[in-house]
Amino acid sequence: MKFDLDAVFVEHGCAGSALATRILGALARDVPVTHVADSDTREATRPAPGAPDPFGAGKRRLVIARRKTPFLAPCPAGSSEFACCGYLVLTLASNCPMDCSYCFLQEFLADNPSFQVYANFADSFDELDRLAANARGRIFRVGTGDLADSLAFDSITSISRDLIDFFASRENLTLELKTKTDEIENLLAMDPRGRVLVSWTLSPDAVYRSSEHLAAPPSARIAAARAVLDAGYRVAFHFDPLIAYPGAERDYILLIDELLDVVPPKQISFVSMGGLRMTPGLRGAARSRFPGDPMLCGEDVLASDGRFRTFTPLRLSLYRTLADRFRKAGAEIPSYLCMEPASVHESVFGAPPVRPAIIGKRLARG
Ligand code: SF4
Repeated sequence: MKFDLDAVFVEHGCAGSALATRILGALARDVPVTHVADSDTREATRPAPGAPDPFGAGKRRLVIARRKTPFLAPCPAGSSEFACCGYLVLTLASNCPMDCSYCFLQEFLADNPSFQVYANFADSFDELDRLAANARGRIFRVGTGDLADSLAFDSITSISRDLIDFFASRENLTLELKTKTDEIENLLAMDPRGRVLVSWTLSPDAVYRSSEHLAAPPSARIAAARAVLDAGYRVAFHFDPLIAYPGAERDYILLIDELLDVVPPKQISFVSMGGLRMTPGLRGAARSRFPGDPMLCGEDVLASDGRFRTFTPLRLSLYRTLADRFRKAGAEIPSYLCMEPASVHESVFGAPPVRPAIIGKRLARG
């Protein structure tokens, strides 16, 4: 296990579960484990009283609990305002042991920052089967990397093995595991039968060093992508958030060159891009937790959706630089923008975005 934990809390009803057994068996001996009544779990997820950085402290408290609400939902970033990619999210965990300065979870999970994993995660398979049965002929791309990194704690939970087993046997479901780690040992032991995508968020070294605390270095992410590709997985890459710092265009080109040297363009299932965007609440929280991070202090303006976004000409220039580099790579790589209106999409790619159901199917099967 590569991330430190200060404490583990196990909800009474989950004590004998397969997930709790796996995690407790893999924990370092000196991590205190407390069993809590089901009615007290919520308290264990709240910010630690008196901690100087309650959100950061929450990332090191693991809570094993039962999820009481549905696991499956449409991507919360989807909106009629934006060109959408038809993604569905499966919430099997909440929060992340890494600590990116720009991460939206700092605001979204401020009131319940403990790292939660759900012992009844296998119930999500029934939800997925119902979804597939009710929409025969459609193909869905389902990801676990929205409120958590998909692989950050996989060395102690091994949930990826259960997921891959399930998705490998489902014709019209594709799993996307999204990560900034190189925790791929479990993946290399499984056969995904073409139905699992692993995607990495990539940033230049300057952003990694300044903002992506405890994440794997970009070159290690790229090497991990090559390894899973060789093991039968599809791979994709997210350049999100793109950050417009001095020298950014050169650094992103160097990063893409490094990627394409290791993963040929025809083996990349898709690429997504999204500019740095922060609500005023997130911007305040991020700047106060990371006052020395210059990546949080670029030229931004409050946009009509209520988020601070990189000044549009800078953002468009970065998008076009990356899109041009991929276009020149010699193979057409499906690409989309995250949380941008159709007009920005058209200005970057020279064509309007296709409908969510169509792009969703294209990204799901490649
Ligand atoms: S890896 Fe993703 S989820 Fe984890 S802190 Fe960074 S941005 Fe947030």
